[in-house]
Parts: sequence; structure tokens; C-alpha cells
Amino acid sequence: MPRFARRALLALAALSAPLAAGPAAAQQFPGRTITMIVPFAAGGPTDTVARLVAEAMGRELGQTVVVENAGGAGGTIGAQRVANARPDGYTLLLHHIGMATAPTLYRRLAYDPVNGFETVGLVTEVPMTLVARKDFPANTLQEAVAVIRREKDKLNYANAGIGAASHLCGLLLMKSVDTAMTTVPFRGTAPAMQELLSGRVDLLCDQTTNTTEQIKAGEVKVFTVTTPERLAALPDVPTSTEGGLPDFQVSVWHGLYAPKGTPAAVTQRLSQALQVALRDPRLVSRFAELGTTPVAQERATPEAHRQFWMADIAKWKPIIQAAGQYAD
Ligand code: ASP
Repeated sequence: MPRFARRALLALAALSAPLAAGPAAAQQFPGRTITMIVPFAAGGPTDTVARLVAEAMGRELGQTVVVENAGGAGGTIGAQRVANARPDGYTLLLHHIGMATAPTLYRRLAYDPVNGFETVGLVTEVPMTLVARKDFPANTLQEAVAVIRREKDKLNYANAGIGAASHLCGLLLMKSVDTAMTTVPFRGTAPAMQELLSGRVDLLCDQTTNTTEQIKAGEVKVFTVTTPERLAALPDVPTSTEGGLPDFQVSVWHGLYAPKGTPAAVTQRLSQALQVALRDPRLVSRFAELGTTPVAQERATPEAHRQFWMADIAKWKPIIQAAGQYAD
């Protein structure tokens, strides 16, 4: 082969090498353990969903998916960690509705809360419950509202920081009853629930994935579910409409993310594994016990997830701006 032709071939090979590395790496994906970051404390509702999803995805992918908790600042600490991680599919984020509120609530973040991520798929939407310490002096939502109005800021409302679902639910409750309470932030609602169980805080609004078992065991008082219909997992708990607060409705969606720049072939592979995981009988039955169901398969895709997330950012923006409540 003439020397110029060989040089041209070598140059061409050098040029195409990085291009080839992408698809090849994606084909071999995953070749090692994947880390799924939960931006809240272990044992809480987001963590519970993540551990079930991670286990089922791991079975499908043939690799372990390890859950790591990085709680604090309403979920933004864990989200930052994933936005800044290497975009190779080995570091993922399982987050909730906070991904739709943080872009407006937090005006100064050390990461891009929208463009820092690739979407993998939606996971589930979880109803919320308003619960109180066992000896709270009320038994119905109407009685609880009367106590809240009477005791006002003497009552402590626990949450997982600004932008967390428990924070939004508390804001909605306070708006519905036109009364402010003192809020106490935790790194997640698992520690908040511990404080409620020991009676050091008074009230908490949290996903059924963190409250169903304590409600059934009679360890906390429950006043309402924040959904239009009663839940099969908690059939005796009235809806907020039945309890006289029809505007007090909220459900918490969860989604799976990868850092921006993760190859599309990798996010597609992760999305397929997520879709399989969400049909896993063990996951489905545990979700049902905890008052929730996985999303339909077509919503567990990067496109459906991104569309839903963008719409939810647009939905929350004017609400947060009108309230003028920012985290910084
Ligand atoms: N449920 C929490 C929240 O308030 C978060 C968590 O601990 O999973 O958003």
C-alpha cells in the first residue's frame, strides 16, 4: 500500500476511534455495578421506591444496582452529585416532584437543574397522607384543622427541606386552612417519621410509601389521603374532599435520571430495564401494599418522562412565583 494511502487510513482510523467507542461501550453496558443516588435519607419513601426498582433493574441488567443516599437541601445535594457525575450510565438519580420545583425554588444552584440531566423514564405516582403523632388531639381532618387554627405556630410540621414533597404538601395544607405552622426540616422523611413516632414533632404529610405501615400499626394518627378517591391499601382513610378540604390534593411522581451527555443507547437500555422492573411481580405487589402502582410502560421512557417533567416545571413556576417563597 502506498505510504500516503496508509497514512490516510491511519488518520481515518484515529478519527473514527472515539466515535466507535460510544456505541461499543453502550453495547457492553452495563459492565459493572451501577449506583442509584437517592437524594433523601435511607428508609424514606423515595428510598423505598428506589430500592425496589434498583433490585428489579439489577436482575434485568445482570449487574448490581446499589442505592446510595445523599440527602439534604430538599434533594438538591443528591441531584448535584448526579449532574456532575461522569455521563456513562453508571451513576443515576431516582428523584421525585422536587425535580419540577427546584428549578424555580432554588435560584442559585451549583448545577443545572434542567439541562444537567438525561431522562430515563417515569417510575410511579404516589399519593400522600396527612399524619400526626399518636396523641395529637384530633381524630378527623376537620378536628385537625380546628387544632391547627387554634394552636398555629405552636405546632411543628416536619418536612424534608424546601422543594421536598412534604414541604409542598405542607404549604398546600397551610394555604387550604389559611394558617402557618412552624416547619422543621430533615434530610428526608424517614428521620421526620422517627421524630413523629417519638412525639417530638406534631404533623407530617408524606407519601404512602412511608406512612402506610405506621398507619396500619396504629403508630400514627391519619387524617386524610390527598387523592380524589380512597386507596385500596388504606380503605378506611377518608379523602381530603370527604374531610372538607377539596383543594388539598397532591401526588408525588418519581423519575429516573442520568447525567447530561449519557449516550442515548445507554439511556435506552436503562429505560428498557426500568420497564421490565416495573412489571416485576415482587415490585408490583410491594408497591400495592404501599398504596401505589408503577406507571404504564409507555411512560417509563426518556421522551415521556422529559415531556411530563417539563410540563410540571411549567405548572409549578407560577405557583412558586406567586407565593414568592424561594429557598435562597
Ligand atoms: N418524602 C420526602 C419528601 O418530602 C422525601 C423522602 O424522604 O423520600 O419529599
